[in-house]
Amino acid sequence: MPRSRDSGAPITSPAAAEVFTMVLTRGPVSRVDVCRLTGLSSAAVTKAARPLIEAGYLRELAPTERTAPGAGRPASPLAIAPEREYFVGIKITGDDLIGVVTDLGSRIVAAKHHAVPGFDVRTDASASPMEPADVVAAIAALVTELLDEHPGFRKRAHRLGVAISGDVDRVTGIVRYSPFLGWRDVPLAVLLDEATGLTTTLENDVKALAVAEQWFGAGVGASSFALVTIGTGIGSAFVVNGGLVSGAFGVSGEIGHVPIGVEGPRCHCGASGCLEALASTQALLTEARRATGVDDLTIDRAVTLARSGDEVLRKVFAAAGRAIGLGLAVVANLLGPESLVVSGEGLDAYDLFEESIREAFSAQAYGSAARCGLVIRPLPFEEWARGAAAVAVQSLVTYSS
Ligand SMILES: [Zn+2]
Repeated sequence: MPRSRDSGAPITSPAAAEVFTMVLTRGPVSRVDVCRLTGLSSAAVTKAARPLIEAGYLRELAPTERTAPGAGRPASPLAIAPEREYFVGIKITGDDLIGVVTDLGSRIVAAKHHAVPGFDVRTDASASPMEPADVVAAIAALVTELLDEHPGFRKRAHRLGVAISGDVDRVTGIVRYSPFLGWRDVPLAVLLDEATGLTTTLENDVKALAVAEQWFGAGVGASSFALVTIGTGIGSAFVVNGGLVSGAFGVSGEIGHVPIGVEGPRCHCGASGCLEALASTQALLTEARRATGVDDLTIDRAVTLARSGDEVLRKVFAAAGRAIGLGLAVVANLLGPESLVVSGEGLDAYDLFEESIREAFSAQAYGSAARCGLVIRPLPFEEWARGAAAVAVQSLVTYSS
């Protein structure tokens, strides 16, 4: 069952949700353009906008304010009031918690990292499970610290977004499966509601990044795009026909568990030949140690040696790059997105992958599917937490009758 939500902005109809989303993602925007883009009548837009203006979420700019250079002088365009509400976003990583506070427009206004005792030893899925109560307490402490940064935060923050890798059921707020925490079916959202006093929305971390991209980034207005992240895990999220693909059962976009090799290494998910078992940071390190015979080789050292010309290690990176390129071609061939954004902490060593990624992608992308191109973008860790906060913003707007 969906969890009940507290009342936030006065969004009481689908039209209000549509108008608010339009102004939030495209604003400042004239009423004429809101009508054109939503298909609503002028009267419907006025009716939907009025309570949002009265509650301080939207404001009308003076008619003389310009929306953009060369955009002319629109008549009283609508804009959001970014400081009307603040949102907390937390990303749970394999090592620590990253937290941000953003305003309504998804601008980061505060950020903090916390190491969590026990997280540092969790480098693989075979470690013993983390106690949910310990993780909840650590998140609650980080939320308190963030909200104490500014008096306005505590007064005007009501929602928390949490991004975590794995199988996450956003509707019920349950973590179905988290390999690195060792969790199955943990009702994390309810536990965090109680511990923080905020209304919590959980989302898979890559899907949360895609929400930030779709609402506040390069994906605004795009009818389809795909985001692939490379690093500790390999994940993807898709926007198709303007909507995030959630999957009927909460799982979609698990490109990390698409088989690239018929006879491949065993994956932590139980299957074999998964992209993640071939090209995640851990998989790369395991292969690098095997190929060099150096058991205590670190990933940083492997990168350094490969960059200085170590042929054995260069081949290890190139093989991982080929696997990633094939995975990207799978995405392009199945979805045909307008753009394919590749991001993640694994890109720190992108110079070692790039050639083989592009070669494998070009060789495998079918015909015009390759036209989406690859947009390679670094990903500061705060961006993951910003994605979580964007999910919290989205939960404010989501209208359910
Ligand atoms: Zn797998």
